[in-house]
Amino acid sequence: MNRPVDMAASLDLGLAWHNRFASLGEAFYTLRAPTPLPSPHWVGTSPTVADLLGLDRAWLSSPAALDAFTGNLPIAGTQPLASVYSGHQFGQWAGQLGDGRAILLGEVDTPSGPQEVQLKGAGLTPYSRMGDGRAVLRSSIREFLCSEAMHALGIPTSRALCVTGSPAPVRREEIETAAVVTRVAPSFIRFGHFEHFSHHGLHGELRQLADFVIDRFYPACREAPGSPYAALLEAVSARTAEMVAQWQAVGFCHGVMNTDNMSILGLTIDYGPFQFLDAFNPGHICNHSDTGGRYAYNRQPNIAYWNLFALGQALLPLMDDQQQALDALEPYKALMPAALQRRMNAKLGLGRTEDGDAELTESLMKLMAADAVDFTIFWRRLSHAVAGPIDAVRDLFLQREAFDAWAQRWRERLQAEPGFDAAATQSRMLRTNPQVVLRNHLGEIAIQRAKQGDFSEVARLQNALEHPFEELPGQQDLAAFPPDWASQIEISCSS
Ligand code: AMP
Ligand code: MG
Repeated sequence: MNRPVDMAASLDLGLAWHNRFASLGEAFYTLRAPTPLPSPHWVGTSPTVADLLGLDRAWLSSPAALDAFTGNLPIAGTQPLASVYSGHQFGQWAGQLGDGRAILLGEVDTPSGPQEVQLKGAGLTPYSRMGDGRAVLRSSIREFLCSEAMHALGIPTSRALCVTGSPAPVRREEIETAAVVTRVAPSFIRFGHFEHFSHHGLHGELRQLADFVIDRFYPACREAPGSPYAALLEAVSARTAEMVAQWQAVGFCHGVMNTDNMSILGLTIDYGPFQFLDAFNPGHICNHSDTGGRYAYNRQPNIAYWNLFALGQALLPLMDDQQQALDALEPYKALMPAALQRRMNAKLGLGRTEDGDAELTESLMKLMAADAVDFTIFWRRLSHAVAGPIDAVRDLFLQREAFDAWAQRWRERLQAEPGFDAAATQSRMLRTNPQVVLRNHLGEIAIQRAKQGDFSEVARLQNALEHPFEELPGQQDLAAFPPDWASQIEISCSS
C-alpha cells in the first residue's frame, strides 16, 4: 500500500477535467499519483461542494467515491501532480518547499468558474522533505470544518469536498491515524510559487507563471497603465487586504502566515493551527509553535503586508525598477484599515463610515480586551441590543460604567445614521455577526468523538457552521461560552 496508485484502471466521474496547471510544464511540478491508504471510511462530506463541482450528492457517499477521494482509485482525466514552491517561514527564507503532501488531481470547469481539486494527505511527493506525506484525522477535520465555516461566513477560502479516514498509523507527537481532505479552489498558486522561480533566477518561468495568473484570474491587469506585473501585485494586495480585514472582523487567527501559505487569489488556505478568538485578546497567539508571536491576531494585517512585500520582491525581475513594486504596494496601507473599518462598522450596525468611527471602534476594543470579553458572544448580543435591552451586553463587562459611556456614544452614532431603523439594523447585524464560529473546543469535541468512530458531531457542527447566522433550535451549546479547558488546548504546526 505504499506505492502510488496505478493510473491505468480509472474511474470516470463524468466531469470534464482540464489540467491547466500541468500545461505550464515540468519546471513547475512533478507528476505523482496518490499513495493508497488501507480500509478507508467516511469522516465528512460537503454536499454544496459536490454541487459546485457538478458531482451527484448521492454518489458522494458511494464506495467508489470513498476510494477515489482517499487516493485509492484513480480518476479518469486527471493528471495528478505535486507543484514546487519555496517561501519565507516565520520571517526567514526557507528555500524549496512544495506540495509535500497535497496532490493536485486537476481542474474542473464549473458554472462558477474553474476549480482545482487537491487531495491533502495523499502520500509522499518529491517535496515531502522530512515529512511522511500524510495528514492526521484531527487536523483534517479542522481543515474540512473551517473551510466550510469560512465560506458560509462569506470569507474567501478554499473549500473542502470531503474527508476520509484510514486506520493507517501516522506518527506525530503520538501515534494518530491518517486522513485525506479533498480541497477545492480556483487555484492553489501561492506567493511562494513566485518566490521559487525568482530566487532561482528562472525569470522565464517567473514570467510564464505571472502571465498564467493574470490571463486566468486578473485579466484587467493587462489593460492597466504601466507594468501588468505591478498591476498584478496591486490587485493581489487589494484582495489580501479584504481577506485579512474579514479575518480580523470575525476574530480569525490563521496561525501560519508564511508566504507559502498565502494564496495569489486572496483566499484563506492551508488551515493548520488556526483559531477563532474566544475571549478578546488582541495579542492572542493561536499557534503553539509561534513562540515569538509573529502571527498574533493583531499582527495579521502587518504580516500580510510583509508577505506582499516578499511577493513584490519576487516579481521585481519582471518590472522596470523597484519603485514600480513599491508604488503597487502602497495602496495596501490605506486599503487595509479602510476595509477593516468598513467591516467593523457593519458589525456595529453602521451603514457608512465617518470621522470618529475608528475611535469608537478602538475604544470598544480596549474595553473588550481589558475585560477579556468573549468576541463572538459580544457581537451577537450587541446585534440583539440594537432593538432591545442592552443588559446582556453590559453583563459581559466588569467596567460597567465605561461600557455604558461607550454604549451611549454608539447609540448616538447609530441614531445619526440617515433613516435609522432599529429593526432593520438589527436584522442586518444578525446577518453580519455570527452566532456560531468554529471555536477550538467545538472542533476538539467533534475530533474526540471521531477518534472513537462517531462522526455525528462532525456533521452536527458542520451543519451549524454552514448556517452561522441562524439560531438553530437545540444547538445552543455551539453558541455558548467556551468551557475552562478550552484555553488549555494547544495546537501547533505539527499535523
Ligand atoms: P504547512 O506549514 O502545513 O503549510 O507546511 C509547510 C511545508 O511542509 C509544505 O511544503 C508542506 O507540504 C510540508 N509538509 C507539512 N507537513 C508535511 C507532511 N506530513 N509530509 C510532507 N510534507 C509536509
Ligand atoms: Mg502550507
